[in-house]
Amino acid sequence: MPMVTYDMISCAKCSFPFDCRILGFSSGLGPPVIVCPVCKSLIHTDRQEWDDFSENQRQKYLGYTIFYTVAVGLMGGFASEIAHHCWVYGIEKNGIFFDVLLPASLLWAGTAIAIQIYRVHCSLQRYSHHRYRPYTGGLFFNCQVDLQFKVCIVLVALVLGGLGLSKLKIMSGGSFHP
Ligand SMILES: [Zn+2]
Repeated sequence: MPMVTYDMISCAKCSFPFDCRILGFSSGLGPPVIVCPVCKSLIHTDRQEWDDFSENQRQKYLGYTIFYTVAVGLMGGFASEIAHHCWVYGIEKNGIFFDVLLPASLLWAGTAIAIQIYRVHCSLQRYSHHRYRPYTGGLFFNCQVDLQFKVCIVLVALVLGGLGLSKLKIMSGGSFHP
């Protein structure tokens, strides 16, 4: 069975995991120093700001953006399709349906592109306004680090949410599409 490996990157002092890399992937963009949201010590990430990127690194970021767009589009599309299937047809109904696969995939792909552009925008802002200030993002709700983990959480929540809602619908006597 193929193994999906990932690296958890944690604060050296309190072990709070602040970043994760699936299969070692990292676009390399982000704040070079962040304040640990738990113990407040400074963490040196291996990320760099856009202005410090070489031409090679910018091309690499573009490559990652294309890859993320396709991967997130497909995974998000299928997760949405599963959630939709559970809600409309019920868990019991077998078969493959592609009711929302295309629009959902496009929506997810568009979101991935928007996030990647937003990250560059944030990086440029940080660089011009407070280049030497360590980044103090929220514990979870920021778009700057640990995005792979967050996207995985959202996708799992989408599928589980679809299953849960379908169960609720059964319990409350709701009917499904025949
Ligand atoms: Zn810490």
